[in-house]
Amino acid sequence: MNSRLPATAWPTDAGIIHDEQGAAAFVTDWRKRYHGRALAVAQPRSTAAVAALVRHCAQAGIPIVPQGGNTGLVGGGTPDDSGRAIVLSLARMTGIRAVDTGNDTITVEAGCVLAEVQRVARESGRLFPLSLAAEGSCTIGGNLATNAGGVQVLRYGNARDLCLGLEVVTASGDIWDGLRGLRKDNTGYSLRDLFIGSEGTLGIITAATLKLFPLPAAQLTAFAAVPDVDRAVALLNLAKRRLAASLTAFELISEFCLSLVDRHFPQARRPLTDPSPYYVLLESSDAEGEEHAQALFEALMAEALESGLVTDAAVASSIAQSRAFWALRENIPLAQAMEGKNIKHDIGVPISSIATYVAQTNAEIERAAPGVRMVVFGHLGDGNLHYNVSPAPGVDPEAFLANEPLINRIVYDAVDRHHGSISAEHGLGQLKREENAHYKPAVEIALMRSLKQALDPSGILNPGKLLPDAPCANPAP
Ligand code: FAD
Ligand code: ZN
Repeated sequence: MNSRLPATAWPTDAGIIHDEQGAAAFVTDWRKRYHGRALAVAQPRSTAAVAALVRHCAQAGIPIVPQGGNTGLVGGGTPDDSGRAIVLSLARMTGIRAVDTGNDTITVEAGCVLAEVQRVARESGRLFPLSLAAEGSCTIGGNLATNAGGVQVLRYGNARDLCLGLEVVTASGDIWDGLRGLRKDNTGYSLRDLFIGSEGTLGIITAATLKLFPLPAAQLTAFAAVPDVDRAVALLNLAKRRLAASLTAFELISEFCLSLVDRHFPQARRPLTDPSPYYVLLESSDAEGEEHAQALFEALMAEALESGLVTDAAVASSIAQSRAFWALRENIPLAQAMEGKNIKHDIGVPISSIATYVAQTNAEIERAAPGVRMVVFGHLGDGNLHYNVSPAPGVDPEAFLANEPLINRIVYDAVDRHHGSISAEHGLGQLKREENAHYKPAVEIALMRSLKQALDPSGILNPGKLLPDAPCANPAP
């Protein structure tokens, strides 16, 4: 099959991909959960070309689905199956516009892959700390549009905290140049913060000015066995007190997660011989150097072992070993995908509630939907867990998936009781937009709709994402 997509009088610099086969990768999401169709896929190379394309679509009433690396986990970057929308891929906008080491900022185009931004920063003797397992393919535009989190939020914040300025093409095709490298700027509404996390529904991000940090003088990684989530949280609080701002990552991993990595990544080596119900991967980044870092870290581990928070621990003795520890954590989502069908959640609750949350919700799910295994891991230091569910061996995957609404209700009702978030870092996309409306106050949804109406009155930007379907104007009595 290599049929041509319908031709329209697209602007000449829109970078339209003309064959259906070439376009196929853009209409299915990373999890292969959503399969859409596109009127065309465009890969413009400049902000002016994006603006011209958006003006064209605005005039013709053609919906636009912005897309970066297509690694999103909630179906936000793929079109529906009507074939009416175009996919606007920013992947060819990869310019590094400026590195300002005096101001500790970097200005990059939206299609820059995150790992590339990290590399350029490092070459300039600086750290760009946003870090997530998809960093080899996700883009800065996508990171900002989803306000991505990752493994260093604890110390450096999420994508929003790392962004000082944006360039955005509006729904009418105007270019807003807000590429300011200012740490302080109280001159009215923060438009930047409105576009960050808006998942392509309010504007197209074409470039960003991002914060840079000093490279740490020393970095230490430890893998520690903990008996339960309660003690993992106690270890977090101890590590915060002992390491203060040096604590840069604190990730929870359950034994079942590690066994999935064992199975699907046979080259992986466990750092500890005896299994434990949970493990913590923690990292410190020290400004004062190796010796200082080592002394603090060793004192922390000794205290944690003595007080029974930790039953065993390994500290990486080389960069290669530290990478191997991190690979165990980063390969969990991939191992879970290789294992087969699963139900994903990305929950956030106050750290003080997280142990109770896990214990109570595990029990409730096992009671209501037997034949499941809990896949619990994630950013404990931020109160954010990937609280996923897989079928037990021998359970029919389709029968398991039939329980998804029931399991989701249990997971999200519990989140709601703890005043948490049903999407701490992945966004809403198609997957959670209705669920979000179920839990958010009506006033909040109405305010979001007003913003959408103000910035995209004809609704051409990423329709069917983030916001729930509009309520019927004249509901039946
Ligand atoms: P896409 O998937 O292409 O798009 C995501 C959303 O942003 C869509 O709604 C799209 O319309 C919109 N969008 C994309 N580019 C633009 C733009 N230029 N302007 C306006 N809107 C745009 N996420 C985390 O937060 N933390 C994690 O730890 C994490 N780990 C992951 C691990 C794996 C293995 C995978 C596959 C994903 C992970 N993710 C994580 C999710 C995902 O990588 C992030 O959401 C990432 O920020 C998406 O970037 P992207 O370029 O792939 O965006
Ligand atoms: Zn995550």
